[in-house]
Amino acid sequence: MTRRETVKINLNKLSLSKTFLPILFVGMFGLIGLTVLISTHAATQTANFEAENGTKSGNATTVTDASASGGSAIKFASSGQVSACTGTAPSTYAYNPMNGRSWPTTYGQSYIATWKDDKIAATTLTIDDNVVADHAFWKQKAQETGFKFTWFVVTGQDSNGKLMTGATWDDFRALYALGHSIQSHTVTHSSPVTTAEMQQSQIDIQRGIGVKPVTIAYPDGDTANEAGAALYYIAGRSTVGWLNPYKPSDYMAVNSLSDYMNTDSPNNYNYAPAILDKSFTQDSGTDFYRGWMSIHYHSIAGDETNVQNHLNWLKAREADIWIAGFDHVAAYARERDVAALSVAAAGTNCVAFTVTDDLNNTDYSEPLTVKVRLQDSGNWPNVSAQQNGKAVSAKIVTNGSNVYALVDAVPDAGPVTVYNPSFN
Ligand SMILES: [Zn+2]
Repeated sequence: MTRRETVKINLNKLSLSKTFLPILFVGMFGLIGLTVLISTHAATQTANFEAENGTKSGNATTVTDASASGGSAIKFASSGQVSACTGTAPSTYAYNPMNGRSWPTTYGQSYIATWKDDKIAATTLTIDDNVVADHAFWKQKAQETGFKFTWFVVTGQDSNGKLMTGATWDDFRALYALGHSIQSHTVTHSSPVTTAEMQQSQIDIQRGIGVKPVTIAYPDGDTANEAGAALYYIAGRSTVGWLNPYKPSDYMAVNSLSDYMNTDSPNNYNYAPAILDKSFTQDSGTDFYRGWMSIHYHSIAGDETNVQNHLNWLKAREADIWIAGFDHVAAYARERDVAALSVAAAGTNCVAFTVTDDLNNTDYSEPLTVKVRLQDSGNWPNVSAQQNGKAVSAKIVTNGSNVYALVDAVPDAGPVTVYNPSFN
């Protein structure tokens, strides 16, 4: 593909977004009586005017055009190639999560980030047993921190329609509407959990909230029926008080700390800073660097200071720790464990890739963050992206003078094009 950012009749020096070019052309040339024909929506945009006789910058081209008033014209084109990004793909980037954030070296090289937004580690803050008396506290903390929590809800109702601790579905609908996760803690809080309760609590929450929960916390941490849980859920939370490595050995028995965050004793399986600091390896050498810390709370009455300390610790490290719902973190991890990234093209002002996996797309629709090396210099002040023709989240991050995009892409949801909005 030839370079096509030929809309540069000195305008590139003005650093104008092409969005404004038609206005500028009208302003410049309309006033002096030239005819300006601009097709703003064509894939290849061509404007004819006598500007070809003026000064052109590097890539502007003069083309023969019998219909043009002077027999030739300046051709310029949409160069972002959103719909058809072509160009030689770079070699596959060898990414090793245990090396921390990585910085691909060649334009277009990409990797699936270990955690959303290329954060170093993940944390889930979960609340068991409904505890309606604490909802106001947690809402307040969510407002202060921006964090999203996970309620593992016991779904059995009394004769008045009340759930455990007097909570109602309205209470949980309100929490869900604030962005929190409403997940399963079975129907009757009995252990070991029957497969029937695994299923029924999922149905109850689907009915109560309108969204199917995909994760479960086992009452009493009893993981005896993991096989039953795996029929309905993508992950189960135990109460084993350890951190998890970034790739837990068993997603149906994710470790979780009980209302406790150890920030003082390094030689333990629950030493929270180990998820960010590679130098800590616990006891027999299990490495939690880049790992997933889950914490579970029950009633926090009298425990507010302790909880606040946890929140403060996490808030201070928010740039490096993805704090999100248990279902989101579980889906992300399981998807990225098996997803395949293929960069199809690195073209002029565009990179095209696909992310695929063999998981079912109903339960596994969490966007994965793909980090893409862009061209250097100031050519990419912004970035946009589309997946299957629809806009998806994309943002610029830099490492020294090197420019990267972090793009949200859902596996199997269609091809992704990352492009420079200055040229589209
Ligand atoms: Zn419980």
